[in-house]
Amino acid sequence: MSPRLASPHQSAVKTGKTGAMQQADKKRRNPVVPMSESEESDSIFHALFEQASVGICYSDFEGVFIRVNPRFCEITGYAAIELIGHSFAEITHPDDIAIDARLGNELIAGTRGPYTLEKRYIRKSGEIVWVRITVTLARTPDGVPHRLVGVIEDINHMMLTEQALRASETRLREAQNVARLASYEIDHRDESRIWSDELFAILEIENAVANPTFELFEQRVHPQDRALIQKTSAEAIASRAPYDLTHRLLMPDGRLKYVEVRGQTSYAEDGTPLRSVGTVQDITSRKQAEIALRQAKESAESANRAKMDFLANMSHELRTPLNAILGYAQLLETEHAGPLLAKQREYLRDIMAGGRHLLELIQDILELAKIDAGRIGLKIEPIDALAVIGDALPLIESMAAARAITLHVARPATGLPQMLADRVRLRQVFLNLLSNAIKYNKLGGRVDVTCVETRPGFLRISVRDTGLGIKPERQAELFVPFSRLGAETMAIEGTGIGLSLTKKLVELMGGRIGYQSVADEGSTFWVDLPIAGQGHATPIEQPASAGNQGEQPAQVASTSRITREQRRLLYVEDNPAHVRLIERALGQIPAVSLTTVHTAELALVAMRSMAPSLILVDLGDPDPLRQESRRRLLAVAEQRRIPVLDLGANQAGERSSGGGEAVDIPRLLAEIERRIGISG
Ligand code: ADP
Repeated sequence: MSPRLASPHQSAVKTGKTGAMQQADKKRRNPVVPMSESEESDSIFHALFEQASVGICYSDFEGVFIRVNPRFCEITGYAAIELIGHSFAEITHPDDIAIDARLGNELIAGTRGPYTLEKRYIRKSGEIVWVRITVTLARTPDGVPHRLVGVIEDINHMMLTEQALRASETRLREAQNVARLASYEIDHRDESRIWSDELFAILEIENAVANPTFELFEQRVHPQDRALIQKTSAEAIASRAPYDLTHRLLMPDGRLKYVEVRGQTSYAEDGTPLRSVGTVQDITSRKQAEIALRQAKESAESANRAKMDFLANMSHELRTPLNAILGYAQLLETEHAGPLLAKQREYLRDIMAGGRHLLELIQDILELAKIDAGRIGLKIEPIDALAVIGDALPLIESMAAARAITLHVARPATGLPQMLADRVRLRQVFLNLLSNAIKYNKLGGRVDVTCVETRPGFLRISVRDTGLGIKPERQAELFVPFSRLGAETMAIEGTGIGLSLTKKLVELMGGRIGYQSVADEGSTFWVDLPIAGQGHATPIEQPASAGNQGEQPAQVASTSRITREQRRLLYVEDNPAHVRLIERALGQIPAVSLTTVHTAELALVAMRSMAPSLILVDLGDPDPLRQESRRRLLAVAEQRRIPVLDLGANQAGERSSGGGEAVDIPRLLAEIERRIGISG
């Protein structure tokens, strides 16, 4: 049988209403008229047809509509009159005509029974509407098929939702693909699992051949991480909390992978786990980068530590003989050993200048290394900047006087707010800038120091000189360690480290350094530091990390009243050259008897028998073992109220950061006399 529903064509039926329907209309107008059985069934059919919530259509075997109900009209957007006499194909989506026609023809031919099809109509407005159509045959009373009857449900909303769901699933899959995010679902009732394709890909398991199981997953887990997974899962079940863990996978070829697993389990009321869902992300490349970074950091840190240890030991080793050279030079200068010729005095001065320069260099290098290694301790607190400037000026006055340079400090009429800084470091910064302003000034020049509030929340200390200035083409080298910008060819002493050290210190204190310079006119170097109590960090103690003995107070024991008979000095020193130097220097104070021991342990023993009036010790030795014994010695001394004089400390009573000050013999003798009460 040739298909008869292949194409649309005009129907021969001219009217939409049958005789029975016209009868029914009449009855509706006059309901009290009694009806025959067939009239009543017609009436029921009519009511059902007209009011059905599904669309109903009759068509001939050509597919031409003979009758349509109001719901069908609603679904398709056409009026009944516009549909009747037209083929189903005229309002069917072109892609769906052939299948509908084929199934209809099979139904007419009797090779299939009623069928249901999901298809699309094109509504009068042009929109597409999805319908589910069930087509059956209507037969004449003697059983001959003569009409096609379609019952149509509007499934547009459902189809659109389904399509949106499919689209979002596709998007999710694509996103998971891009993010290398895999997902899984576990049904705990039968331990069955669903793995996304990406999870198979991460585990490098062919998904066509394998059924996801815990054993299959566990095969890939690094043996050392299996316990962790079990523990995490047990904890999550016990606490009913979501879980999150990172573990390794070990591929059959020995490659390691890192995955981040996040999941959540739902539970029955009695606490039985029902279902877990989660994601697995391959984070191997991130992890490898992290590991490489950590290793690089660790090796940099250990290199830094090694450098620091080397420098600390080295500087100690260098300072020891240098101190001896400087000490003996000073001893000679006192002419205790006999008068000196003018020439000899001149040589001595050169020896001492050279030695001091070397000490400074060692100290600065050590300091730079310490800052780089983050091993510098700062005590940030509110301080009066002008007081720090005032304290520092006397230390530099003789240097200025030697070059006939006048120093001016502008004191503002109103009080300045306090700044947040480390007092010792700020003085060091200020002294560096001030000594440069003197060194690189013209003879008879001028240096102006000001302290003003500049940008909000910051105080600026400026040091302006009338000196050589810095040529623009050399300014890029400023703050670069060991760069002297040509000063090395002039007879101006320096190491080229001061400014870089100053910059690092200022930045460590949360400040900024800057300058303005005009060649042959002069330079202004300034430092901005935060004002205290303006929302900056509150005063903090920044402890130096291990190995830094930088800021410990040199004098740990309080001085006590000493009578003449009690002037016994205990000197702890393991360096014979130093011992000889100090013995000779103390020879100039006849009222003092000196006992020398070479370890802190021996000093503890000696203390018991001799009750010293003062202990002389160099606390700067970086050896941790010796430091420990020295700490014990200091503790006992403090307990017994015996004063301790640190030979490594500077004149202000603070240990210099590198402990690199030369022993100043005249000052040492004066200090000893003061401490043991000889001179007042
Ligand atoms: P140093 O003074 O030991 O050489 P610094 O690091 O303090 O080292 O300074 C580096 C260089 O910057 C100096 O050698 C000098 O050339 C230049 N410089 C620093 N301060 C001034 C200044 N106030 N005027 C001119 N040049 C300066």
